[in-house]
Amino acid sequence: MLRENVESNFFQGLQGSAKVHYLRISVTDRCNERCVYCFPQDLGFLSKKENLLSFEEIYWTIFHGALRHGFKDFRITGGEPLVRKGTVSFIEQLTKISGVRSVRLSTNGTLLGLYARKLKEANIAGVNVSLDCLNPALYKKITGGDIAPVLEGIDECQKVGIESVKINTVLLRGINEEEFLPLIEWASEKKLVIRFIELMPISYTGKISKENFLSVAELKKRLEKQDDLEPLDYKLGQGPAKYFRMKKRNAIVGFIGAISDFHFCDNCNKMRLTSDGFIRPCLGNHLEIDIKPFLRPSVDPFKVYQAFELALQRKPPEHSFRENYNPGRVMTSIGG
Ligand code: SAM
Repeated sequence: MLRENVESNFFQGLQGSAKVHYLRISVTDRCNERCVYCFPQDLGFLSKKENLLSFEEIYWTIFHGALRHGFKDFRITGGEPLVRKGTVSFIEQLTKISGVRSVRLSTNGTLLGLYARKLKEANIAGVNVSLDCLNPALYKKITGGDIAPVLEGIDECQKVGIESVKINTVLLRGINEEEFLPLIEWASEKKLVIRFIELMPISYTGKISKENFLSVAELKKRLEKQDDLEPLDYKLGQGPAKYFRMKKRNAIVGFIGAISDFHFCDNCNKMRLTSDGFIRPCLGNHLEIDIKPFLRPSVDPFKVYQAFELALQRKPPEHSFRENYNPGRVMTSIGG
């Protein structure tokens, strides 16, 4: 019965859940930085190269699985997506597929100087850049890398006219607390939107504790002592961030409170595809569906379609981060 229904939908073209329409695709679990809260020191988690999906396999997954279930918006992520050769050409190919409304990129920014123009030419809808501080020494301490190419890369994105460039800052108590206001003021000067993200229990590098966790609610209270915050009356992007305008600074600040915001999952519209070929309906839940058997040795369009169907049916109503969560897999491996 299910098979019949599924098959009749299959041949009607674009179908499926209107609510879940956003797929985050990890194209690699490799990264050229070593963020303390993200990338484990022990590299044992890295997938064998042969387990990583080829761009062609990702393409068929999108075509037969995602688009036919009504997915329209895509984000390319990782690991660091720009370290994989061919990522920008893949983005260009993706933006041309009928049914694809937007393709965005999440990056640490280190290689943006090289690729910003090509990304613009590829019709990228937006780029999110991770930046936890402006202080070069602290940046090195957090990421192991240099801040200069990241700042240059952000400038280059603006220079070539990429429509939406947003900054993602992870809240790290005792580490980057002094950086929040300077970051907001810097972002506002550059007319960039900045979002603050609560630390999630999705790494082996350390458990979340009172010592390192800072909630978006606490940050908001601190900012309210400095400025008036008014909620934005229009929607920005496809994600769960809640946006406010800081009136005196004319800055737009977003809050992503996966842990403290009890309504965080209410309007969740996304699923993930991991670089090693698993559909993951929720970042904070171990459920994954292996799609590789339906792509190798040759593509089985119906099975790919069904795998998405199953993932959508099984998508949990909310994440399990608050339940003494054990990550099992790290963020860079799942795709951030
Ligand atoms: N390399 C790309 C980047 O830097 O955006 C894409 C992958 S990265 C895993 C995606 C996002 O996840 C980054 O903004 C990063 O700061 C965030 N992230 C990683 N580990 C996190 C954690 N434990 N809690 C909250 N955010 C985390």
